[in-house]
Amino acid sequence: VEFGWSDEEAQFRAGLAEFVHAEVPAEWLEHPQPRLLTNAADKAQAREFAGKLRDRGWLVPHWPSEHGGRDLPTWQFVILGEQMWSVGEPRGSQYMSVNWIGPTIMQWGTEEQKRLHLGLIADGNSFWCQGFSEPDAGSDLGNLRTAARRDGDEYVVNGQKIWTSHTPAADWCFLLARTDPQSKGTTGISILLIPMDTPGIDVRPIPNVAEAAAFAEVFFTDVRVPVSARLGPENGGWEAIRGALQNERVGAPRWERASLLLDHVAAQAKAQGRLGDPAISRLLGEAKASCEAARLLAYAVIDERAKAQPASPQAYVARAAMVRAERLVAEALMQVQGVDGLVDGELTAENYFSSLTAGVAGGSYEIQLNLIARLVLGLPRS
Ligand SMILES: Cc1cc2nc3c(=O)[nH]c(=O)nc-3n(C[C@H](O)[C@H](O)[C@H](O)COP(=O)(O)OP(=O)(O)OC[C@H]3O[C@@H](n4cnc5c(N)ncnc54)[C@H](O)[C@@H]3O)c2cc1C
Repeated sequence: VEFGWSDEEAQFRAGLAEFVHAEVPAEWLEHPQPRLLTNAADKAQAREFAGKLRDRGWLVPHWPSEHGGRDLPTWQFVILGEQMWSVGEPRGSQYMSVNWIGPTIMQWGTEEQKRLHLGLIADGNSFWCQGFSEPDAGSDLGNLRTAARRDGDEYVVNGQKIWTSHTPAADWCFLLARTDPQSKGTTGISILLIPMDTPGIDVRPIPNVAEAAAFAEVFFTDVRVPVSARLGPENGGWEAIRGALQNERVGAPRWERASLLLDHVAAQAKAQGRLGDPAISRLLGEAKASCEAARLLAYAVIDERAKAQPASPQAYVARAAMVRAERLVAEALMQVQGVDGLVDGELTAENYFSSLTAGVAGGSYEIQLNLIARLVLGLPRS
């Protein structure tokens, strides 16, 4: 892996930095907390921003030109993501569409699905949510029970999803459902691409410490979906799901934001004259090393993707390293800011909450450690 950036990549980064500084509200630059789209105004803002990226050819630069991209290397997508996360992800949930939803549809979709969905995503005009987790199916996703019963040319969906992020603004749901009622585990599951305004879908936000409308329960009652909305084979969706999860693990460059926050806290510690305090300097040093480790481990995984190599278990290592880095940065912010940082709306408090959930969302930390033990270290299953 070559970790340096070419002149072209450095120029791309500089152009993007200039663009985001001109386009995002000033408070986003001082408060780079990823924002969830919780109302129509947030969504309109994200759509407008994505439209400006699209007009410059920056929304899906790494996609093939036949799907609205520019055939640029995966690294352009990484640089783009880093610049977006450094100012609080102004694309909103569209970072998921360009990272894993679009590519999964590209690989598994029918011509009709590709035309519709890839066109909408490349245009900056479709907001998705991810309907995977259920009350008894989180780490053990193969335990999901939401059922899609075949009825002629339609499926009838009944069941419940939970912790579904971005639902207030979602136009579409990437839904996992069991299409073979006799099946167990990861067999018998299909993917359905469902408009969120389909009758029978009920979204109930879950109040939580992080943000009021951050995620929701989503109930499906006799929701009728045409069979043409199924992505990939009936009962055989798991391979596509695995690929999607692999892309999701390193798709959000959280390391960039963690590093920026750390610079911010180091500047504060310096201003307070506390850099000489061995406890503070040790914490800052450890957090810095963890951020850089997380960045380089993620880059190694992205390098596999850029070279079209099969995904390796290194993605679990990268994700575990990212969780550790975010927790250390949150701890450093707390130590340096003290009680002042606990005020509601303060960056320290918000960041502390999001570092708590970072070890759960997208697959929990402990599960990543189990996978590393088995697939990287070759330890036996316990
Ligand atoms: C901020 C946030 C956003 C989310 N967004 C979405 C979303 O948009 N769509 C979606 O589908 N889901 C979403 N989720 C859900 C997330 O994917 C699940 O919470 C996660 O997979 C864990 O599942 P669970 O909550 O059921 O916990 P469980 O699987 O019940 O795990 C609970 C605890 O037990 C531990 N544990 C479980 N099994 C083992 C084991 N075998 N060995 C060791 N430890 C174990 C886990 O590590 C965890 O600490 C989100 C979660 C969060 C926090």
